[in-house]
Amino acid sequence: MQLRDLHRQYTAMKEEMNEALLRVMDSSFYIMGDSVAELEARLADYVGVRHCVSCASGTDALYLALRTLQVGQGDAVFVPDFTFFATAEAVALVGATPVFVDVDEFTYNISVADLKAKYDSVRQAAQFTPKAVIAVDLFGRTADYTMLEPWCHSEGLLLIEDGAQGFGAMLGGRHACSFGDIATTSFFPAKPLGCYGDGGALFTDNDDWASMLRSLRVHGKGADKYDNVRIGLNSRLDTLQAAALLVKLRHLSSEQQVVQQVASRYQEHLSSESVGLPVIPNDMVSAWAQYTVRVSQRDRVREALQEAGVPSAVYYPRTLSQQPAFAALRQQPCATAVRLTSEVLSLPIHPYLTDEEVDTVVRALQVAGDSNTDKKTIGS
Ligand SMILES: *Cc1c(COP(=O)(O)O)cnc(C)c1O
Repeated sequence: MQLRDLHRQYTAMKEEMNEALLRVMDSSFYIMGDSVAELEARLADYVGVRHCVSCASGTDALYLALRTLQVGQGDAVFVPDFTFFATAEAVALVGATPVFVDVDEFTYNISVADLKAKYDSVRQAAQFTPKAVIAVDLFGRTADYTMLEPWCHSEGLLLIEDGAQGFGAMLGGRHACSFGDIATTSFFPAKPLGCYGDGGALFTDNDDWASMLRSLRVHGKGADKYDNVRIGLNSRLDTLQAAALLVKLRHLSSEQQVVQQVASRYQEHLSSESVGLPVIPNDMVSAWAQYTVRVSQRDRVREALQEAGVPSAVYYPRTLSQQPAFAALRQQPCATAVRLTSEVLSLPIHPYLTDEEVDTVVRALQVAGDSNTDKKTIGS
């Protein structure tokens, strides 16, 4: 059993995939070949925005978004304290200062209440200019854009959606990666839409930002690539990766339907008394990048899972404010985020997980729960 089974996925689309990749080899057009433009058009169409600009990774996508929105030295960027490192790393890379915000107890996404509090204290301290918010679609659930979009707009803050774990999710009838001023995603193999290496993309409705992104991703090019009008970087998506993504995108909707059934099976069979189950609001469809439960005595539960041959992972064992790389910022770790780091446990989930495998995971968790003397209810 695997947390995310990329080999089963490849097997399911093998002929189509091999043909698509061999077509690129035959054309020998490895950089910015036809598949790149075709993929960008299809992704923009799928998400429902005017522009998609592909790039080399989800981290680069965040960096490119911040550069395009002219975020830099002296600016404060609000990020959730509970997310993958890259969300805040990109902020530091452009010379701005990340301000860590606590997360919601139930969705694990950025807490709008704490965001408002942190925003007020940054304004009062008057050391940095509050400039932007990066909201993350953690584990496949979109952040609370119903609240975030109007609030950021009214305060004059830019809003970036880090949709690296959210591609395929929906909120209020809108697709993930359509929220905020610019949205980013990652095509790292294990993400909801993954390629066979590193890759990423940005989404925006703004024509000027889209052309800035296209310039920045190729050494700040102007009219042609030997006309360099600004400092950029080399962050193109390979033609081979674009070709692989075009094949996977054709399967995404059906994969998403199946993975909802896998999640429902967990939800039905796991007892909410022994583990804290993921909460999905009514107007949301999760992309199920992870199936993350909360448990007390996590080490013992992981041991029981391991004995039953079930892999599990801890995303994330540390909050961003607790990362050594951000120690110099001297920011207080956020309370809910800290508690989550000791309770969260991610179980196998992907569209190719069988009912029998889900049942094996459920049974292993029951065994762990029965031997658990301290049956404290988590997440309530
Ligand atoms: C994976 C991830 C990234 C970075 O994406 P890469 O393609 O690995 O650079 C950024 N933010 C979040 C929330 C992620 O999960």
